[in-house]
Amino acid sequence: MIENKNEWTLEKILAIYNTPLLELVYQAATIHREYHNPQEVQISTLLSIKTGGCPEDCAYCPQAARYFTNIETNDLLSKEVVREAAKRAKSFGSSRLCMGAAWRNVRDNEEFDHVIELVKTVNELGMEVCCTLGMVSESQAKRLADAGVYAYNHNLDTSEEYYTEIISTRGYEDRLKTLENVRKTNMTVCSGGIVGMGEAVEDRCKMLLTLSRLNPQPESVPINALVAVEGTPMEDQEPVSIWEMIRMVATARVVMPKSVIRLSAGRTNMSTEGQALCFMAGAGSIFAGDKLLTTPNPAIFEDLEMFDLLGLKPKKPFADAPKPKTKEMLDYQENRNEKWTRPGHIIEKNVQYSGLAKEKRKDNKVMGE
Ligand code: SF4
Repeated sequence: MIENKNEWTLEKILAIYNTPLLELVYQAATIHREYHNPQEVQISTLLSIKTGGCPEDCAYCPQAARYFTNIETNDLLSKEVVREAAKRAKSFGSSRLCMGAAWRNVRDNEEFDHVIELVKTVNELGMEVCCTLGMVSESQAKRLADAGVYAYNHNLDTSEEYYTEIISTRGYEDRLKTLENVRKTNMTVCSGGIVGMGEAVEDRCKMLLTLSRLNPQPESVPINALVAVEGTPMEDQEPVSIWEMIRMVATARVVMPKSVIRLSAGRTNMSTEGQALCFMAGAGSIFAGDKLLTTPNPAIFEDLEMFDLLGLKPKKPFADAPKPKTKEMLDYQENRNEKWTRPGHIIEKNVQYSGLAKEKRKDNKVMGE
């Protein structure tokens, strides 16, 4: 577990973020070498096990049912499909399979029972299993841990203040509560955010401050560049520059020296040179696979070519923490009491895009008649 001995403040983090770029990269690279093997990069494969139809209103997300986006939805994948996907990912050097379901929160029902079976299936293949299923109660987190989940992902997305401009269907405190529930188990914590949603630099640094103050700090911190998807309220957002991504990776590296910083969504817009600087600045992991849930990602052979070029090698599974010991959870108490919030304030753009989606669906229906 990563102990948090640092007392970061917003001022200190802003000062790091605003350090002249090459100096910042140098400082971050120095810290990276102290705590990590800079030649190793962990490859995670993200698999959407249940796509679309989500009741939340996250402004960046094509899986939100209320927006009209061009994604193919699917119900929970079968064990066979997941096993094959995991085997394929492993054969390309992935040490971790991250299974994502477009849910607001986990419910104690047959779908959760099925996810537990999927976890066991991937675990048996000797891969690290990560899940990202929305909010989880303490008992649900324990059940996942006992089934063999190595990491649970739940991103903070941005600062607490800016969060209210992105999502109205749940509160920031729910994110933190979920991370707290995960931390009560032996699962590792994966939590980061998205850059390029129109937030200020201060919001990015506030998010890093919140993450850095988690005690212990998250083992894994994904840094995503927004992929603006047509039909979402963020569709017109300009892509974030590579220099901002490098600054964000480097700052995360400095404030959370032992965490694995994960270069996540948005890599299709990054050159190999840009990604190389991110690795130099402390990124120790990427998401691989042709798709990240629903958005495009570089093909795995392109990533392996980049690894060859840069002299990087994929990290082996369970290099940082032992394989979780699995056990049948005999005394599982269903969670009926966890109260998740629903602030319900008005985010004009989210409401506008939800209205547009309704009109488009109506038009499509008329055309189909
Ligand atoms: S980000 Fe997750 S919770 Fe938000 S709409 Fe998408 S799938 Fe749902």
